Amino acid sequence: MTSADSTSFDVLILGGGSGGYACALRSAELGLTVGLIDKDKLGGTCLHRGCIPTKALLHAAEVADSSRESAHFGVNTTLQGIDMPKVNEYRDGVVGRLYKGLQGLVKSRDVSFIEGEGKLVGPNSIEVNGTVYTGKNVVLATVSYAKSIPGLEITGKIMTSDQALNLDYVPNSVIVLGGGVIGVEFASVWRSFGSDVTIVEGLPHLVPNEDEACSKALERAYRKRGINFILGTKFASATQDANGVHVTLEDGKTLDADLLLVAIGRGPNTDGMGYEAQGVAMERGWVLVDDRLRTNVPNVYAVGDITPGLQLAHRGFQHGIFVAEEIAGMNPIMIEDINIPKVTYCEPEVASVGMTEAQAKAQFGDDVVAYEYNLGGNGKSQILGTAGFIKLVQKKDGPVIGIHMVGSRVGEQIGEAQLIVNWEATPEDVATLIHAHPTQNEAMGEAHLALAGKPLHAHA
Ligand SMILES: Cc1cc2nc3c(=O)[nH]c(=O)nc-3n(C[C@H](O)[C@H](O)[C@H](O)COP(=O)(O)OP(=O)(O)OC[C@H]3O[C@@H](n4cnc5c(N)ncnc54)[C@H](O)[C@@H]3O)c2cc1C
Repeated sequence: MTSADSTSFDVLILGGGSGGYACALRSAELGLTVGLIDKDKLGGTCLHRGCIPTKALLHAAEVADSSRESAHFGVNTTLQGIDMPKVNEYRDGVVGRLYKGLQGLVKSRDVSFIEGEGKLVGPNSIEVNGTVYTGKNVVLATVSYAKSIPGLEITGKIMTSDQALNLDYVPNSVIVLGGGVIGVEFASVWRSFGSDVTIVEGLPHLVPNEDEACSKALERAYRKRGINFILGTKFASATQDANGVHVTLEDGKTLDADLLLVAIGRGPNTDGMGYEAQGVAMERGWVLVDDRLRTNVPNVYAVGDITPGLQLAHRGFQHGIFVAEEIAGMNPIMIEDINIPKVTYCEPEVASVGMTEAQAKAQFGDDVVAYEYNLGGNGKSQILGTAGFIKLVQKKDGPVIGIHMVGSRVGEQIGEAQLIVNWEATPEDVATLIHAHPTQNEAMGEAHLALAGKPLHAHA
């Protein structure tokens, strides 16, 4: 059944973001009929308000840094300023082209796109604009939203990433509440654009979910870049007036700036969607799923950010593909959250997969080996002028169970890192392979050579 006005499908998906559309495309490839419902633009948060637009801003920020620092390379340029409307136009061009491509893909696979706000009205039915659609299988994929602190209203100069992405000017000064991925990425962009930035983080480190060595390296780099941060201190209150925002911390300290970005995490967008009424088990708004992404209601699955765990677009893609293949009876393999690659695209980048040293030691005690290869010994990193490292965490005499990196562009190394960890390669396995010279990727090879007992451009 493929007609656009059909109301019953093999797979009916609520939410056309990373998780939902991946499920739709894979289901269609497998010969299943698919209805994909979204109240907004196909592509969801990642394409329109998340990964893609923020990375376009970060690229513009890199261009600004290159212009500012070009004399170091003997190329004399002057950074005359940041034309935010033009930056936004470039960003919108990137998003627009990808959006068009995605619409074409969905159409070409005969997925029925149903536009409108959906509500689960039965275990296998969703109502949209007065029409009830049914699915032999239903997939819930309705995204997360940017959280705030109770009493801190998102309005005017107090904003989340949704509003910050659409600024048409560069603020002179910003306070960023939250030193996680979104907070440090925006801080990086604004600093490159010339703003005075202060990050406030309640935990003892920036990017607190990363290996502590990465957090400390990022803190050193940010200090050098002139990005201020206050760690281990909680936010108390904020007000705004014509002059800007005024923030008070729990230790009594006060900060003033043009804007306050609230980047304290994202919550599940499940309120009022009929999930609970239809008996779907939930916890604090998250949809609970088992290790096959099944909810407690037969043939109802949930994918992406509404399930507890990492909030990443590629986790959503994986979930979507997994559920399609599960429905088609292919018994797919699920990658655990810990082994999903993570990249924070600030300058310098932070990238990781697998266990941190602390997590490994908590699980395996003294049977853990950690090794840091300093990018100082890597030719390409010297050419780029970046500092950082690749840190390996190995189960003693066994596979590499964690890889953690800091440095400009190290996010590009995450592909090999995730293969090493997920294929349970040992340092010796990797050490026999060849890494092209001169690339930053060589540092990955060098780290494994060193752990295998035969360091090349590293001190033993
Ligand atoms: C600023 C920012 C930067 C980010 N950067 C990255 C990054 O670099 N890399 C990365 O991996 N992840 C990043 N993320 C996270 C990533 O965007 C999310 O993990 C991903 O989009 C989640 O996919 P999803 O399918 O769960 O939700 P979404 O992609 O948001 O899709 C959900 C869809 O459901 C629709 N919907 C919701 N309710 C209804 C309803 N009742 N009826 C109909 N439709 C409905 C919405 O309109 C939306 O289109 C970023 C997020 C933000 C906010």
